[in-house]
Amino acid sequence: MMKAIKAKSDIMHESRDPEDFIWRPFTQHQTEPAPIHIARAEQEFLFGADGKEYLDCISSWWTITHGHQRPEINAAIIKQLSHFSHIMFAGFTHEPAQALAQGLISVTEGAFDKVFFSDNGSSAVEAALKMAYQYHRNRGNQKRNLFLAFEGGYHGDTFGAMAAGRGSRFFHPFEDLLAETRLAPFPAIVDEDTPAEIHAKETAALSRLREILAKEGERIVAFIGEPLLQGAGGMRMARPAFFRELCKILRDAGVLIIFDEVATGFGRTGSLFAFQQIGIAPDFLCLSKGLTGGYAPLSVTMTHAEIFSAFKSDDFSKAFPHGHSFTGHAPACAAAVASLRLFETDNSFAKIAGLNRFYQDWFAELKKRGDVRNFRSLGSVAAFELPPAEQAQSYKSGRSERFRAECLQAGLNLRPLGDTIYVLPPYCFRPASQARLQETVGKILDKIL
Ligand code: PMP
Repeated sequence: MMKAIKAKSDIMHESRDPEDFIWRPFTQHQTEPAPIHIARAEQEFLFGADGKEYLDCISSWWTITHGHQRPEINAAIIKQLSHFSHIMFAGFTHEPAQALAQGLISVTEGAFDKVFFSDNGSSAVEAALKMAYQYHRNRGNQKRNLFLAFEGGYHGDTFGAMAAGRGSRFFHPFEDLLAETRLAPFPAIVDEDTPAEIHAKETAALSRLREILAKEGERIVAFIGEPLLQGAGGMRMARPAFFRELCKILRDAGVLIIFDEVATGFGRTGSLFAFQQIGIAPDFLCLSKGLTGGYAPLSVTMTHAEIFSAFKSDDFSKAFPHGHSFTGHAPACAAAVASLRLFETDNSFAKIAGLNRFYQDWFAELKKRGDVRNFRSLGSVAAFELPPAEQAQSYKSGRSERFRAECLQAGLNLRPLGDTIYVLPPYCFRPASQARLQETVGKILDKIL
């Protein structure tokens, strides 16, 4: 039904809560409580408009790396704004984008030669999928027309990203419209697994992968996966040794490799990038979230010279026909350069190692409870699960909503994924905050279990 058009002055006088005008992300508006109004943030803290303090235990959707309101990143953005905010990136260029590209090529240790800019994680993934697809076509191979991904993988919510993430539990309404994708198992391991159990999971996953490749390997455009850590799929972790074997099998089959490090990039797994622990450079690397320290929307898709060379031609139809209005956004690039610099000057990796030591101590205590289970941690990320319950496994289970509500009440920003409780804090998360997290979560578990 069409709505009648009203005068602006009438709308402004309707005295409705401005929040009523907002359609929020990943939200069931019928049932979810009203959002919390945040007025200010600093380091690992968020401050509500009512003055209440929240510990940001999940880095505001995994974006904030060094902490909120770092003066170095703020200053870089402000300085860039004093020159210009945005210029189009086709036919023009600027220093912040060049500095960032150079910085990224350097910190990825020669694995890549080119940086393609976008402005969110889904778009970085979309660009990688499209580049891989067009690469084969530009080289005259029309046969490759399906993707290979992991069960439980999440790569964003645009159409290509949804197809790659069709093994997640989010996209059923769009199932019919998604590109063809085959799924290989992700051998998630937990602290409680024995070496024999780990071996069995990894062997089963690799043998399924080999089956898929034997049957349809020649049709596969590329493999896409989150290295070492599946984020939205439930903070599931797999070993570098598994990934080394996986990459070897894919390479032998001539399949291009895309690592989606939108979530794992910039220190989350203990190294700047997860691929560095695996020791194998993919053909494409997708980065976003922590790229700007979490201060501005920006993403990149990195690749190497061999891929790029397939797009160079006198013929425009071989060029990559893709690019967004805010591509290479200068203040965001300046933020990213400042954030990269902080990794060199701010003891980030010592802080991440400190967080991981805290998780070991915390989990040693939690394991004594005998109810929560499936403990795992990697770098600055740690997770465990609530004990099985009838309604478990859905993105939102009653218990996890209760857990989240109790956390907010107690001043913790935690957002479980189904029955998986996880923490992924900014690296500035100090011992006093760690103690508060440990104590508060303990009390809440006592209450809800
Ligand atoms: N890839 C991964 C691994 C992610 O975790 C996410 C977001 N959670 C995305 C892609 C999509 O990023 P964005 O939400 O910025 O589009």
